Amino acid sequence: MTVNGKDVHAGDTFDVHNPATGRVFAQAPDCSPAGLDEALQAAATAFPLWSADIATRRAALLAAAERIEESAEDLALLLTLEQGKPLPDARFEVQLTALSLRVTATLDVPHEVTRDDDRERIEVLHPPMGVVAVITPWNFPLALAALKCGPALLAGNTVVLKPSPFTPLSTLALGVALREVLPPGVLNVISGQDPLGARLAEHPVPRKVSFTGSVATGKRVAAAVAPDLKRLTLELGGNDAAVLLDDVDLDAHAESLFWAAFVNCGQLCAAMKRLYVPRSRYTEVVDGLADRARALKVGDGMLPDIQLGPLATAPQFARVQELVEEALAGGADAAAGGRRLDGDGYFFAPTILRDLEDGVRIVDEEQFGPVLPVIPYDDVEEALARANGTRYGLNGSVWGADPERAAALAARLECGTSWVNAHAVPTPGVPMGGHKWSGLGVENGLAGLLSFTETKVLHIVRGR
Ligand code: NAD
Repeated sequence: MTVNGKDVHAGDTFDVHNPATGRVFAQAPDCSPAGLDEALQAAATAFPLWSADIATRRAALLAAAERIEESAEDLALLLTLEQGKPLPDARFEVQLTALSLRVTATLDVPHEVTRDDDRERIEVLHPPMGVVAVITPWNFPLALAALKCGPALLAGNTVVLKPSPFTPLSTLALGVALREVLPPGVLNVISGQDPLGARLAEHPVPRKVSFTGSVATGKRVAAAVAPDLKRLTLELGGNDAAVLLDDVDLDAHAESLFWAAFVNCGQLCAAMKRLYVPRSRYTEVVDGLADRARALKVGDGMLPDIQLGPLATAPQFARVQELVEEALAGGADAAAGGRRLDGDGYFFAPTILRDLEDGVRIVDEEQFGPVLPVIPYDDVEEALARANGTRYGLNGSVWGADPERAAALAARLECGTSWVNAHAVPTPGVPMGGHKWSGLGVENGLAGLLSFTETKVLHIVRGR
């Protein structure tokens, strides 16, 4: 682990599995409560100096981006081994991680003077909060760490970062890589199992928790920070709906439609998870998607030409399998896939499900796997109502030949981002957040940066 810029050993360790084999391939440090105290204390000690000068912080973030690019191959290899994504996708995630820091480094913390006259001067400032706890999931460990740590650090906070116990290694390696470019204590990286996350969230030192993960854990984190009124950002699960309109040009959009659902083996909060299709186009759409699903090359992400890796974790694999089996038992049909693949590892055949409706768990819940339920509709208002009929509200999309008609419908989706003729487009710098149970607050862009600051008014009275 990286604590106060140095290597720290936890004593205890826990197993890390390679999802392509299902076997343990490494041990990760299991940070003790005393180790957590030490990391938080290091962050608190580093805070006064780090918070003093934004130019230094900006330069450090740019140096960090460069350092990540220099370490790209090592980081990508670890990411594929522990997470399963094909190596080219892991390399892309590393590039995205560096890019995210670069884009963040272009931002400025606003300093507004709202009044300045003979009587008074009023300034609105945005000071940092202090120590920020960052807790990340296993689907994009590096990119999501950068999305949080970048703005937290630029704003002047110091950080203790804890990755998922399923994918700790690439984040621990990131901590090592950045030791040379960040002052000691500014970014501390520790690892451990879920109780470490709980201890970090409720610890008295952090003034803010920035969390990405499931809705269930997000609610626990919200409850844990409440007694201390810590600031909180939650980026949680989604069950993104896409609505195809009757005039959609499938030749133009089939490829992006397909990958919007199957990117990262479906393990993306912003992936398309349900597709509503006009009955008149239903067979054509299902057949087109099923052909693509069957043609995918699925396998160990370390091998060449693999397009889809395994699911990242054993529980996730079991869950996807259970939800698909339940849908099939209830009368749905697998136009492609529908079963696990033979052999070791958490491989599931890319699956297109047809002949199912809302009310089935794989449609109603976040399944987070390489499966797309395709649901027919007769009336577009009914499709919109079904898309919105959920506790989730992360993203959604509408696809059609007339962008204005599609945009008018997309604007009525109850979610943080609505796309037209696209879905799950990573866009550094653009605010991103979930409505309803999909989150609290936003990340990215100026709004994301401000979420790592307090608002402070400096009011100087010059005379009455
Ligand atoms: P998870 O909620 O199980 O775990 C997320 C992190 O929380 C891990 O680091 C875990 O160790 C930690 N944790 C577990 N219990 C904790 C507790 N009581 N207190 C504090 N921390 C605790 O989520 P996951 O399975 O790792 O990730 C998948 C989920 O993440 C999906 O629901 C997905 O949609 C969501 N996600 C959301 C976004 C977004 O931006 N909205 C992005 C990626 C993933």
